[in-house]
Amino acid sequence: MLKDQLEDVEQKIQAACDRAGRNRDDVTLIAVSKTKPVEVLKEAYDLGIRVFGENKVQELTEKYEALPRDIHWHMIGHLQTNKVKYIIDKVDLIHSVDSLKLAETIEKEAAKHGKVMDILVEVNVAEEESKFGLKTEEVIPFIEKISEFPHIRVKGLMTIAPFVENPEKNRTVFADLHKLSVDINDKNIDNVTVSILSMGMTNDYEVAIEEGATMVRVGTGIFGARNYAV
Ligand SMILES: *Cc1c(COP(=O)(O)O)cnc(C)c1O
Repeated sequence: MLKDQLEDVEQKIQAACDRAGRNRDDVTLIAVSKTKPVEVLKEAYDLGIRVFGENKVQELTEKYEALPRDIHWHMIGHLQTNKVKYIIDKVDLIHSVDSLKLAETIEKEAAKHGKVMDILVEVNVAEEESKFGLKTEEVIPFIEKISEFPHIRVKGLMTIAPFVENPEKNRTVFADLHKLSVDINDKNIDNVTVSILSMGMTNDYEVAIEEGATMVRVGTGIFGARNYAV
């Protein structure tokens, strides 16, 4: 069943790339495995998945310890500064940098490990009250500031689009994030090239790919519904 769902997602990614005249290799599928047990992740691993997204620090570190080392772990959820130290040496990319305080903590912890941490800036494009992330107009000044941090590399932008029945409604959200990335690159900020756009989830990743997503975060579409009660 996991195999079928994965194949279905793969086909849809390919079809969206075809429609947009994009190369399949330019889109990374992140399997969002939050709430799913290690055995299920292992099954996905055996089907070839090597990039997993988690949103909780403890869950991520437990799965990290239990699974093979060639997995790339992405932190996609809101990150508290006091927990950065637990994941700094385990993750390849933090998608959810949304404050100077968090960036400063990542800088400090990465320096301790002699590592340069790749990060994305989370943008609340739709300005939803319930969501984390910077407002669009705050992003360039923020990036200008953290671009000077020697142990952080700003690789791109991330957004969580509103929950909508019709994914077409999120097209402008994705287009706006894409436009912001172009504006940032036009500024030629030292040490910053925005090459990653992390946008699109199960409900809307095809539209996101059409609008330029280079990473899609798909949970339910691969693993089925999550049961938070367990
Ligand atoms: C849970 C989650 C996803 C995946 O959501 P699905 O709708 O199950 O694909 C993607 N991004 C973030 C930040 C999430 O927390």
